[in-house]
Amino acid sequence: MAQLPNSLEARDTAFQLHSYANARRQEETGAMVIEKGEGIYVEDISGKRYIEGMAGLWSVAVGFGEKRLVDAATRQMEKLPYYHTFTYKTHGPSIELAEKLIEMAPVPMSKVYFTNSGSEANDTAIKLIWYRSNALGQPDRKKIISRVRGYHGVTIASASLTGLPNNHKSFDLPLPQVLHTTCPHYRTMKRDGESEADFARRCAVDLEDLILSEGPETIAAFFAEPVMGAGGVVVPPDGYWQAVQPVLKKYGILFVADEVICGFGRTGNMFGTQTYGLEPDMMTLSKALSSSYQPISALLINDAVYQTIADESDRIGVLGHGYTGSGHPVAAAVALENLKIIEERDLVGHVRNVAPVFQKRLAELGENPLVIETRGVGLIGAAELSHDALAQTPGALGARANAAFQEKGLISRAMLDAMAFCPPLIITENQINELFDIAEAGLKTVSDSLK
Ligand code: PMP
Repeated sequence: MAQLPNSLEARDTAFQLHSYANARRQEETGAMVIEKGEGIYVEDISGKRYIEGMAGLWSVAVGFGEKRLVDAATRQMEKLPYYHTFTYKTHGPSIELAEKLIEMAPVPMSKVYFTNSGSEANDTAIKLIWYRSNALGQPDRKKIISRVRGYHGVTIASASLTGLPNNHKSFDLPLPQVLHTTCPHYRTMKRDGESEADFARRCAVDLEDLILSEGPETIAAFFAEPVMGAGGVVVPPDGYWQAVQPVLKKYGILFVADEVICGFGRTGNMFGTQTYGLEPDMMTLSKALSSSYQPISALLINDAVYQTIADESDRIGVLGHGYTGSGHPVAAAVALENLKIIEERDLVGHVRNVAPVFQKRLAELGENPLVIETRGVGLIGAAELSHDALAQTPGALGARANAAFQEKGLISRAMLDAMAFCPPLIITENQINELFDIAEAGLKTVSDSLK
């Protein structure tokens, strides 16, 4: 991409530091400037249209250009553009949304704490977990376990939970209180001759071994996504959650389900917690909560956790935590309208209806010789390309496939060599076919070029 002087690309490069980009590469190639969106499509400034195969960042559930969300934001802006939830103040949208989320929660939850991003929700969860340990008179119970390749955000504590090298290297992370256990990815983590069922059980054994070696009385909580997203769409093997959860219960370890991607329909149920039979004590939500039309996230806590925290705030005098934007009225109003749309249009039922086509077409990508594995559930999936076979450096093929998809009008996301697909939930069967026709053609371009 040539960057013409004074073009938007050139000004972007001049003034903006980007996330998950190589800044030096960015200086040379610039970034793609997206101008507008409608349904599952976005358009760049040259007028080229793309299927947004990632729903932005796994998040635009109801698609782009949803007028009802614009109207909900406008109405709230006009009435009360801002108010907060500090010091015994509140406002209608935050109350309504909190009530709605407690009503929707797949396991009994008691209170909602609003934040602005998935990272902040997970960070807040860690702080409340530490606060609780102190309240319980267990000041040594502060360690948190998450998983290799898990993704929980980028703030100091949530980046520590994240189990990916780029989120730690040169940031002096993870924090010493955070430990990582086995990633439940069968193909890469299995031992010789180990069946999938044995592997699932071994993940639980690895977790228990870690707990025992650290001292069970020092472990406060376990954080996990029902299905790993940014770590490469890792769908856990059958039996994994059934083996892992009893270990947590045995040692009184809180379970925090990070539903930031899975929440609100992605896996074919309203929550990933339902798809996998989870019993979390706390849940974090964001992304599809507002379809990312506004930044908002939420931490849900059950009553036992709440009671201890409430007692501690009473002992200290105040819960010393809160963000200016916590429960922002415009974001809350947009989220409420977004949830209404998800329910009224039965988008969860829609996901169940179209998921078989999505998963079939995803699996068929496996016919390309570069693809070594496809995996997915509901409307999320990935096709992993083999860098080994072709002696490519990890990520090189993913970048090429990404470029080929983009050239043909599809935005995907390469997580190293795993090509992810996570379109808006409103995608139709025809559009799913359109998406995978492009992906197939894009992969063919890459595989042909290597012959
Ligand atoms: N948890 C999960 C499962 C995520 O996928 C993400 C974002 N990709 C986060 C947390 C962090 O959210 P945010 O980028 O809003 O901080």
